Amino acid sequence: MARLDADMLEQILTTLREYAQQNLPPSKLLELEIGHEFPERIMKDLYDPGQIGLHLLTIPEEFGGLGGGAYDIYRVSEAMAAIDLGIATGVLATFLGTDPINVGATAEQKAEWLSALAEHGHFYAYGATEPQAGSDLGALTTTAMPVAEGGKVVGYRISGRKQWISNGGVADRYTILANAPGGPSWFLVDKGAEGFTTGKPEDKHGIRASNTAALFLENVYVPADRLIGAVEGKGLVQAQAVFGYTRLMVAAFGLGAGWEALRRAVRYSQERVQGGGPLSQKQGYTHKLLVPNAVRLEAARAYIEWVAERLDGGEEDLATEGAVAKYLATEAGNRAAEDAIQALGGYGYTREYMVEKIKRDVRITTIYEGTSEIMEWTIARDRWQQHLKSRGRYYLDWAARADERHAQSPNVGAGLAATALRSLAALLERARLDRLTRNQHVLFRLGEIVAYAETAALFAERAAAAPTKASGLEPRTLEAMARVHAREAVFRVAGDGLRWATGAGQTDPGLKQQLCLDAAVAAQAGLVEDMDRIASDLVRAFPAK
Ligand SMILES: Cc1cc2nc3c(=O)[nH]c(=O)nc-3n(C[C@H](O)[C@H](O)[C@H](O)COP(=O)(O)OP(=O)(O)OC[C@H]3O[C@@H](n4cnc5c(N)ncnc54)[C@H](O)[C@@H]3O)c2cc1C
Repeated sequence: MARLDADMLEQILTTLREYAQQNLPPSKLLELEIGHEFPERIMKDLYDPGQIGLHLLTIPEEFGGLGGGAYDIYRVSEAMAAIDLGIATGVLATFLGTDPINVGATAEQKAEWLSALAEHGHFYAYGATEPQAGSDLGALTTTAMPVAEGGKVVGYRISGRKQWISNGGVADRYTILANAPGGPSWFLVDKGAEGFTTGKPEDKHGIRASNTAALFLENVYVPADRLIGAVEGKGLVQAQAVFGYTRLMVAAFGLGAGWEALRRAVRYSQERVQGGGPLSQKQGYTHKLLVPNAVRLEAARAYIEWVAERLDGGEEDLATEGAVAKYLATEAGNRAAEDAIQALGGYGYTREYMVEKIKRDVRITTIYEGTSEIMEWTIARDRWQQHLKSRGRYYLDWAARADERHAQSPNVGAGLAATALRSLAALLERARLDRLTRNQHVLFRLGEIVAYAETAALFAERAAAAPTKASGLEPRTLEAMARVHAREAVFRVAGDGLRWATGAGQTDPGLKQQLCLDAAVAAQAGLVEDMDRIASDLVRAFPAK
């Protein structure tokens, strides 16, 4: 997949921020959210090629788009989420709605539908979820019955109900997952098709500037050429292929919203004087409410950037990596926003200071596009398979690579990440021998532990070789953050690993040594000093206005 040149991407991000500054001050965002209003005019502005033309981002150049890639989507999604996650969700719904087309449509279908999107700026919606089929999409009951003429299928009649669909009540076009005789398949359905109606907007906890509605399909006729990819039964595979991208987008939402809340807290901490000095100088405040959130968010960013670059390099089948990115970034964003309320004290609890709105908004990111628990499951299942297939080498080989990085760059926590990965290999092997994953809880906890160990390795690697330019932090801050995250990971693998393995009845008295518990404790030396540095660097990076 192509990627925008750096100047073009910067130009889009700058235009987006300027548009938000002029048109979306906090008072306007609060008005939209209190009124629970879909901002149609703003969405039209965002899609207007004369202003920003956001819908063009993912459309290939040959069809009139900009031909942006996964990295561009991540940067734009992060910037959108920092402005307003409800509006960002409206934009995401179009990206999401066109993804089954991007990954599965025939060349003719792509040319027709994507060119029309570029020209008309249609709003799209993605209709997968049903009342009884959420996490378990295989349980879907919407049907697509073939209509035959002269022995040839000329169309389908779709019947069923979709639930919680973003842009559901406002879209022009819908991609709908339905069971055809050959299996689950995606279809393109237009607004206004006979038998197609939408429910009233859902009254939501957050992202209230986005429209979420149910879809009702009663014998809705679509011609056969609306079957995406022209072959029945590819729907779940296409949905899976879409996940690499869409989970990355939602990960970027967690990152953008979480950082926006955290930046507000960092700035506030410099102005708020309590106990004889600004809160930004009080460790009990910074090391609990600010620093750990900045570290988690940047660890997630390192992983997001790695996945985006791999997608842009043409790799497919990165649904698990997308899951790790989404899991960590959205949990980190949610936690950062929660802590930002605390960091602003009573002010944080009022609407005016915006962090309570961000908290309600960012909450959805741990639910849509796959819940955090489903992410844990996805990660654990896949890496469990890798462990079995490689006969335990998967993480040992990765640990060897982290050791090499440590030899070249001893200041980024790569050595600790290597220890975490080696301990993880030992933990997985013990789980295999004692059949511990018969307990679903152990399997899910392994998913969490894997996510920490992998991000520790990636964060260390990138802090040394490719420090991000997107966060506004200096390389030495990122190095300190990578060390703090690696300490967290090594402690989690050893501590949580031992806890759950023992809790589930593991049998090896030497497991504590194999999981390097003593080394994980010793690795914490220097932690508070690194946190001191990060706290003061955050103040420098985000000074009070
Ligand atoms: C605001 C909003 C916008 C959305 N937009 C869209 C959209 O545009 N298109 C679309 O198709 N869908 C959309 N969704 C649906 C969303 O993707 C689903 O809500 C989500 O996948 C979870 O499904 P569910 O709500 O049925 O929860 P469930 O699947 O019932 O899950 C409930 C809880 O059980 C846990 N759980 C589920 N299965 C298991 C298991 N096997 N083992 C252990 N725990 C489990 C989950 O983690 C969760 O905590 C949207 C939802 C919301 C709220």
